[in-house]
Amino acid sequence: MSRQCTLKDAVSVQGVGVHTGKQCRVTVRPADENAGISFYVGGQRIPALAEYVVATDRCTTLGLDGARVMTVEHLLSALAGSGVDNAHVEVDGEEIPVLDGSAKPWVERFYSVGLLEQRAERHRIRLTRPVSVMAGDRGIWAMPHPERLLITTVHYDHPLIGTQVAWFHLDKIDYLEEIAPARTFGFWEEVEALLARGKALGGNLENALVIFPDRYSSPLRFPDEVLRHKVLDIIGDLALVGVQVEALFVAVKPSHTLNTAFALALRQTIQGE
Ligand SMILES: [Zn+2]
Repeated sequence: MSRQCTLKDAVSVQGVGVHTGKQCRVTVRPADENAGISFYVGGQRIPALAEYVVATDRCTTLGLDGARVMTVEHLLSALAGSGVDNAHVEVDGEEIPVLDGSAKPWVERFYSVGLLEQRAERHRIRLTRPVSVMAGDRGIWAMPHPERLLITTVHYDHPLIGTQVAWFHLDKIDYLEEIAPARTFGFWEEVEALLARGKALGGNLENALVIFPDRYSSPLRFPDEVLRHKVLDIIGDLALVGVQVEALFVAVKPSHTLNTAFALALRQTIQGE
């Protein structure tokens, strides 16, 4: 059994939100064992759990009693991928900074202050029956399995992408090397339409991979960077289950709406047992 971890010291980051274009300051502080992850927005505590998801339009937004924080998924993915179980995330603003569009800057900061191993054992639950959430041609399935395996596939009708498939062993993965660097992406037509609607205001070619009909806006960090970013998002959204779940996961064309609905279904299944 592995033990719970927190950070050895606080980490502060300031930057712009990709959707709002507004500056935000975030301080991730160490927390006691069994505290889990919580956001603090304007004095309001919002636990990082699936029942506090209030919006999933292009990013995951948590909220409680009028307090909201947008785009929590990359920070949650970085915490989960680094093995941080307990942290208090103070947010001065409305959206977690996008940084370079990936989780790498977060993980590097966490590793620079170091992780502190705590006494309590990490919460980990063996799934005893299958859980699934489906929507049209998309879906996520979890099947009881002693190890945490994730198979993901994406499909885009685009000559540079098409169908990509990969599997990762979530307990053995080198998150910093294999997943964290994969950037947020958007198709050029989509980016244009978002900008016209006053969205993606903080997006630019430094913090997102833009996919044009015949090229990428910058060199890829992985041949399957698009798929790996989807895996990064799934790891972040599944952190909203609040415990590690031993299962074989299969995700077909995942989205934040699907991921967070699935996280909620997993929580309900676990609580019902
Ligand atoms: Zn993302």
